[in-house]
Amino acid sequence: MVKKMKQHNSSKVIVIGGGFGGLASAVRLQAAGYQVTLLEKRHQLGGRAGVFERDGFRFDTGPTIVTPPFVVEDVFRDVGRDPSDYIELVPIHPHYRLHFSDGTHFDIGTVDEITEQIKQISPNDVNGYHKWLKLLKPIYELGFEKFAMTPFESLWSMVKIVPPAIRLKSYKSVYGLVASNMKHDHLRMAFSFLPLFIGGNPFTATSVYSLIAYLENEYGMLWVRGGTHRLVEALERLYKELGGSVKFNSEVTKIEVDDNDRRVKGVITANGESLPADIIVSNADVAMTYMSLIDKKYRRKNSDRRYKKAKYSMSLFMIYFGTKKTYPEMPHHNIIFSSRYKELVKDIFDRHVLADDFAIYLHVPTRTDPELAPSGCETFYACVPVTHQDSGIDWEQMKEPFKDKVLQFLNDNYLPGLLDNIEVCEVFTPQDFEQEFNAYKGNAFQLQPLMTQSGWFRPHNRSRDIKGLYIVGAGTHPGGGVPSAFLSGKISTDLIFSDYGKPSEALPD
Ligand SMILES: Cc1cc2nc3c(=O)[nH]c(=O)nc-3n(C[C@H](O)[C@H](O)[C@H](O)COP(=O)(O)OP(=O)(O)OC[C@H]3O[C@@H](n4cnc5c(N)ncnc54)[C@H](O)[C@@H]3O)c2cc1C
Repeated sequence: MVKKMKQHNSSKVIVIGGGFGGLASAVRLQAAGYQVTLLEKRHQLGGRAGVFERDGFRFDTGPTIVTPPFVVEDVFRDVGRDPSDYIELVPIHPHYRLHFSDGTHFDIGTVDEITEQIKQISPNDVNGYHKWLKLLKPIYELGFEKFAMTPFESLWSMVKIVPPAIRLKSYKSVYGLVASNMKHDHLRMAFSFLPLFIGGNPFTATSVYSLIAYLENEYGMLWVRGGTHRLVEALERLYKELGGSVKFNSEVTKIEVDDNDRRVKGVITANGESLPADIIVSNADVAMTYMSLIDKKYRRKNSDRRYKKAKYSMSLFMIYFGTKKTYPEMPHHNIIFSSRYKELVKDIFDRHVLADDFAIYLHVPTRTDPELAPSGCETFYACVPVTHQDSGIDWEQMKEPFKDKVLQFLNDNYLPGLLDNIEVCEVFTPQDFEQEFNAYKGNAFQLQPLMTQSGWFRPHNRSRDIKGLYIVGAGTHPGGGVPSAFLSGKISTDLIFSDYGKPSEALPD
């Protein structure tokens, strides 16, 4: 490990990729006195949190929920800025509406509101719901405060949390923990589906991920006023105010490593540019960072075998559409379940087939921010979890029929008259995830959140193969989702500060 230097010599940093992990790191490093260049493959920053506009409809392409707020706000505070000068976070109520295939719905809101609804549909489950709620705080304290916020640099750091994890029944899945407390099928679905938000299978993700429900209860479901991409724009503005530079349409095709000491030297881009760097932070897909950007001979811990064997999150089939009428009865966030739950999840995660049925997350941002569509119109996206590219599905061929099927279903069951009122419509398939974000197998959330792929077992924030290489984003610790991407940015930059110090604090000779 490199000692903290008096006079700082390692000041050139390249950040590969401008997702939240890359942006959060770039801001912190630039503020600490490093000369940071962010290289982004696409024409805009944000990665999965992209944006596009069509005929007055503004579509956020990815994340729509921010919780807990402090993780996002800390990036601004840590560099001496007031987050409220950059973004406005607004609570959404109800958090979301769950629609079941029998035509009933259930709103997730406050504990009292939820309890009242349980009394109506399954009074015997009220006690079980409250018992389950009590389990969430210690799970959060272990899973978020002890697990997610620290790097796992040694196996020992992981071993230390095993006894408390066993006490909290982390060997159970998220679904298993809910099912051991509640009997009604709708409640089991309602309180167990949350890992899907970060690419996890509710039936195999460790119950530690039930902490998402705690975060939701404690901090609410927050929406960035104007859409999530406003947060990307705010970070870009902050980074540039600090003096950081961005190169768009700059795909990194190679990370160069010094043969003598296995230290990063720089990168080569698809445009043929060669840029030197003392430190590289990769926010690109972790499997692709190792398998396609770094020569095999430098990779012992991060072999192709490791990444080919790993289990990846599902992909998503996205339909962005705008209508020339509004649907005021639809809340901002909606989860539309199929009648099959466990079997559909198996089709997606294990069998890798496209089932006849599907579940949908229906996003209606104009419920909160009507200006995201022309007056009297509504902006939507339908997000359908589907298997990743191990399926071999030819999405070029499937995309039209599958889009038509989903829209017909929404027209017939939830959005009457939809098909006659669509003004604009765009589709994004697993193949697009693969091509646009260089996402291995077209994953939407990188490696699945499994116990065997978490903490020390997940690709490390500080590369164990290459000196000067750090990983941020959903593929490293702590995992998928917006808060984790921000946390990885903090964890990895703290490792850089501990390895190299901060140029801004370097002493003159
Ligand atoms: C539809 C959808 C909805 C979601 N909803 C939520 C939600 O509500 N709440 C939540 O918490 N999470 C949600 N998520 C997950 C969340 O968006 C992601 O986990 C998170 O944004 C990932 O951030 P990241 O730092 O890993 O970067 P990414 O967003 O993956 O960005 C990586 C960037 O790197 C660039 N890149 C890749 N390779 C290269 C290269 N070789 N050279 C240069 N650049 C490169 C890419 O173009 C991209 O811009 C959602 C995801 C999707 C897809």
